[in-house]
Order: sequence, then structure tokens, then C-alpha cells
Amino acid sequence: MSVWAILVAAGRGERLGLDHPKAFAKLGEDPLLAEPLRRLDDSEWIDAIVLVAPPGWEEPSILLAEELGCGKVSACVAGGETRAASVRAGLAEVPADAVAVLVHDAARPLLPAAVIERVLGALGEGWDGVVPGLPVPDTLKRVDDDGAVLETVARDSLYSVQTPQAFSADVLRRAVAAGADATDCAALVEAAGGRVKVVPGDPLLLKVTTADDLAKIAAWL
Ligand code: C5P
Repeated sequence: MSVWAILVAAGRGERLGLDHPKAFAKLGEDPLLAEPLRRLDDSEWIDAIVLVAPPGWEEPSILLAEELGCGKVSACVAGGETRAASVRAGLAEVPADAVAVLVHDAARPLLPAAVIERVLGALGEGWDGVVPGLPVPDTLKRVDDDGAVLETVARDSLYSVQTPQAFSADVLRRAVAAGADATDCAALVEAAGGRVKVVPGDPLLLKVTTADDLAKIAAWL
């Protein structure tokens, strides 16, 4: 019964305005990638990790994992053009006997152990996928290209979804093999007819998009 984690870190992070990929932006003393990698490696729920590095950055990624003493990293591959392609590349390294796969964005470095436990715990209840989510606090409006409001959308059943996302390995393989693109893996599983559950996420799982996000996360650390 093995649980594999895929850490997707191959995004370019253009909105950070750096001359290197987002995964190697500095968070404190270390590259951003160090924090989620260490946290996955420390989790007793995770047996092995596949690191999906920015193309051309596989070697520094492996060196970083070694420096951190992350003994669970069993493969490091280059990512693809899209997030879905990067997940596909990572999944190719997961052995056939893996039972569950946890996919996590390296851009969400503050990964609480309790969220790993929540998604994998609920997966054991028989869902195809389990994702962490937060209720949407603001009023939501659909607008046209000019900014004119078309409608106010009821927010009571809407969640903002994060990673780590946990899946039955077979279900994720089938969903990803279809070759479609999506902003998260759950959307691929949903499109393939899978049943996905939302469990409580954590505001600490903020995704680094801008320099402000990075500064906020550094302060939280
Ligand atoms: O671009 P986005 O913010 O959706 O990225 C979410 C996560 O997916 C990040 O950790 C990023 O490194 C990863 N990603 C990837 N390969 C891509 C695009 C994004 O691994 N081509």
C-alpha cells in the first residue's frame, strides 16, 4: 500500500519577474522548492516523492533534495509546457503498484501536515479524489469584457480549491492519459467521471504568484 507524492515545480513564474524559475525564488535562505519538499519528505503518510523540475533545472533540484536529506525523492523529471503535462511526466515515474497519489504545487510552500492527513484520510473512505478547499468569502459577480455586471453568483456552494490533492492512482492515471489540460488534477478526474470530495483547506496554502505573496509567506514562516 504505497502513497506517492508528485511535487510539481516546473512553472515559469513570469509574474515574479525573476530570471530563474519560481521554484528557485528565495524564501528565506533557501529556494522556494525546499519548503514543500522538506514537508512532504517529513510526512509519515508519504512513501516516495517524484519531483517535477523546471526543464534544465533537474540537476540543481536533485542537489537541493540531497542537501536537505530528503531520502524519499525517488525520481526527478523535467516538467512540460502546462501543469497537466508536468503532472503527466511525474506520473510516468510512479510505479504500477502505487495505491494513492498526492499531487502538490511547489508554489504552495507552507504545506500543513494536517492537510495531507485530511485529504489522504478521506481518500481511504472510497472517493476517487479529495481536494482541500476554502469557502469563498467575497460576493461573486460575473462580468462582461467592459466590467458590466451580468449577474451575482450565489457563493454558498463555492469553494476555492488548493493542493495537495489526493487521488486513487488508477483513477488519476486514466484521467491524465486523456491528454486534456486543466488548472488542477481534480478537474481532469471530474471530466473522466470521477467522484471528488472537498475537505477543509488552509489559508497557509496560499499560492505564490507575485512578489507580495512571497513576502507574505516569508513573514508567516
Ligand atoms: O501556474 P500555476 O500557478 O497554476 O502553477 C501551479 C503549480 O504547477 C506550480 O507549483 C508550478 O510550478 C506547477 N507547474 C508545472 N508545470 C507547468 C506549469 C505549472 O509544474 N508547466
